[in-house]
Parts: sequence; C-alpha cells; structure tokens
Amino acid sequence: MTSSKPSAGGAPSVGGGAARTVCPYCGVGCGLLLRTEHARLTAVQGDPDYPVNRGRTCRKPLELPPAVHARDRATHPLLRDRHDVRFRTASWDDAMATAAARLRRVVDDHGPEAIAFYISGQLLTEDYYAVNKLAKGFLGTNNVDSNSRLCMSSAVAGYVGAFGSDGPPPSYADLDVADCILLLGTNTAACHPIVWARIRDRQAEGLTSSAPTPGGPLRPRAATSTCRSAPAPTSRS
Ligand code: SF4
Repeated sequence: MTSSKPSAGGAPSVGGGAARTVCPYCGVGCGLLLRTEHARLTAVQGDPDYPVNRGRTCRKPLELPPAVHARDRATHPLLRDRHDVRFRTASWDDAMATAAARLRRVVDDHGPEAIAFYISGQLLTEDYYAVNKLAKGFLGTNNVDSNSRLCMSSAVAGYVGAFGSDGPPPSYADLDVADCILLLGTNTAACHPIVWARIRDRQAEGLTSSAPTPGGPLRPRAATSTCRSAPAPTSRS
C-alpha cells in the first residue's frame, strides 16, 4: 500500500496531492483517489493500491466532480409550512428548531411510538450511531430501520438457510481461485461491475460461470452459460 497521512479534510492523503477514500455508491467498496484544486473536487480515479478494485472503477464515481458541484445541488435546508406552498431556503438554526419542535409535538400528542425513522443505506457507522441515539436515547422509540437491512433481508434469509451465515461467506479473493461460479438472481455485470471485471479476469483463466435467469435483457451476457428457469406449475385443486 502507498504510505498515507491524514489530510485536512479527514481522508488520508497520498502522494501527488490526491486524497484516498472509498466510493460512495454501490456496496462493492472500491478505493478512489480524489484530486482537488482550491478546495474543489476536480478529478476521481481508481486507487491502484486498493485490494478491491486495483485501480479500476465503473463510470459512477468518475462523474462525482460535476455532481458535487452541480448548480442545483441542495446545499441549504429547505422548509415549507404547508404541503401546498413552495419550499423556501432556511438557516440551519431555523431548520433544526423547526424539526425539533415538530418531533416534540408528535411525541406530546401521540407518544414516541408514533415516530419512525427509515434511514439511508449510504450512512456511515457514526451516522447510524447518531440517528439511533436521537431515536432511542432522546425520543424513546425503537422504530428505526434502514435500507441497509431491508434491501438485504431476503438475501440474508437465503444465506442463513443455505450457508448458516448472515453475510456473504466468500471474499473477493476467492474469485481469483474459483473454478466455477453460479450467479443466482443477480446481474453482476450491471449492478457490481468491478466484481464482474474480476470474474471476467478469472474467466480468461478458464473459470466456468453459470447464470440461471428468469429471462429479460438484464443478464450477464458473458456468463459461460445461462439457463432459464421455468415458472412453477400451477397447483390444481
Ligand atoms: S463498482 Fe462502481 S459504484 Fe460500485 S463501488 Fe466500485 S466504482 Fe463505486
């Protein structure tokens, strides 16, 4: 790994003025190098020393500079007093006080169980801690769920049933030594392109991959084989 030291922005910096971080999009977790000029993000590239992607990226993080600096990006709180009026720009103090007062009113009128948080799967560990502290520690409700859990719930049930583990049992390094991969219910090429690139590398070395699919255009076209699953026969009474 390249030696790194903390930068002013908190991300470890590397040689040549780049800051090292992790892609904010899908769960593959690719390492990125960010370049800035005058505190503005100017370029993003894959981190060649990062073990997940080894310098590769898909298109998504490469478009971060224009996305971060888009003119219509939300950079201030927006508030409205009724649903039929337009949002207005508000100060952070105003927005926080309004949110606190409205949450207080719900708790006073209906109790803490009337409040629920459905939070993003993109949050960091510290963010989850802060939300849970607010909900459970201050408001007194256990109604906190996140997309991180719900979007994986059916997969986790499958993992537990099939492998006895509530997380994916293999690691990326296993791809480099696998002889056969069975892709079930996934379009890895579209959804996790860097994992797919690693599978393609291994395919070039002789890996067999198979992708049973119910059909449709979104299947990994470079799977060694695909087989369609037939609908289950309807039961007769
Ligand atoms: S596959 Fe693409 S979107 Fe996902 S982490 Fe890697 S670079 Fe980001």
